[in-house]
Amino acid sequence: MRKCLRCTVEMVEGLDIKVEGGAYGIKVTQQGVFKDNLGKFKCAVCPECGYTETYIENPERVKKLIVDKK
Ligand SMILES: [Zn+2]
Repeated sequence: MRKCLRCTVEMVEGLDIKVEGGAYGIKVTQQGVFKDNLGKFKCAVCPECGYTETYIENPERVKKLIVDKK
């Protein structure tokens, strides 16, 4: 569960981000040889103030990047 950083109210999670004018989501990729797709951006919105937070659906893949660097 995510709480708004400003109001500490529970946020609505799992919302999709789309590029206006198209059905394309935004993906986060790692630059380099593998160009790994790190996952889709998701967002959470605070129903009180509208504060929007973005996060990646599968943070495990990002964790793996840290492990790989060690
Ligand atoms: Zn808020």
